[in-house]
Amino acid sequence: MKYVLAGASGFLGKALARDLVAEGHQVLRLVRRTPSTPDEIRWDPARGDLDPSALGDPDVLVNLAGANIGRPWTPTYRLQIRESRVATTSTLAAAATQLDRRPVLITQSGIGGYGTDLGDRILTEDSDLGDGFLADVVRLWEGALEPARAAGSRVAALRTGVVLDRGAPAFQLLSLPFRLGLGGRLGSGTQYFPVVSLTDWTRAVRHVAETEALSGPVNIALPAPATNSEFTEALATALHRPSAIPVPAPLMKLALGEFAWELLGSKRALPTRLQSTGFTFHHPTIPTALSAALA
Ligand code: NDP
Repeated sequence: MKYVLAGASGFLGKALARDLVAEGHQVLRLVRRTPSTPDEIRWDPARGDLDPSALGDPDVLVNLAGANIGRPWTPTYRLQIRESRVATTSTLAAAATQLDRRPVLITQSGIGGYGTDLGDRILTEDSDLGDGFLADVVRLWEGALEPARAAGSRVAALRTGVVLDRGAPAFQLLSLPFRLGLGGRLGSGTQYFPVVSLTDWTRAVRHVAETEALSGPVNIALPAPATNSEFTEALATALHRPSAIPVPAPLMKLALGEFAWELLGSKRALPTRLQSTGFTFHHPTIPTALSAALA
């Protein structure tokens, strides 16, 4: 199949491109700078600028672009977080409407769309989106798919938990205190903490691309959700380090601002649509996902 990737220079984009190429798919990368290889195409999503004829006849467009949400959410940066996701998705959706053969359009999204702190409530793709900044971003981000859907493309939004891999900046940040012998649960530790191995994430994207029956939101997180305490214990065991020093919630809020809620808030999300369409996880539990991440 022929894929066009936006955000291909990022952590997830690189991993997906690598796995697609290894499986024999053709991959074109959208870049905001001057292209330096024949598989790169220049675009300027902030201006909605992308020449559909440069894409050839793609089967799948995937949007993994977005400004890093781990930085402080100042008013200016909030705009960047939102626009880098909405403008990129809109630009791809507009291109999809102009292609002779309608491609599948997939955008990354986030489990943060369900809300900030949802306790034990089970979250499937039928659950409502919640309140708060990230939920508003997700509404607009996924809403930007609509022109492509209306024009006949199959569209999907990947509501993804934290992707675990030794090369992932988020995972490196989570594991650093453990490596220093200072690890512990975050806040109360009772919050559900949605994660997935990188291998299963790239497999899930390909499953969504290839499964005609899948459209709309698709949760990508372990089928057996675990709490932060359970994650912490498993991480400490995998790294052969103690997990004795809990990180108090107020300290996290002080250090990370509102982003702290992404780690402290509970999200018990289930990958219902993936599983109902036959997807099986290679790493379905926290210990198996962690051992894949650390391999
Ligand atoms: P990275 O930060 O590694 O990569 C981000 C990508 O987005 C880069 O290719 C970058 O391209 C592009 N980008 C950044 N800012 C802009 C902008 N203003 N306009 C257009 N493109 C931009 O992120 P990840 O690969 O980790 O994540 C990709 C997406 O998935 C993000 O939206 C992230 O929030 C989301 N996500 C990630 C999870 C994870 O665990 N990693 C979990 C859930 C969701 P360039 O080289 O041009 O700057």
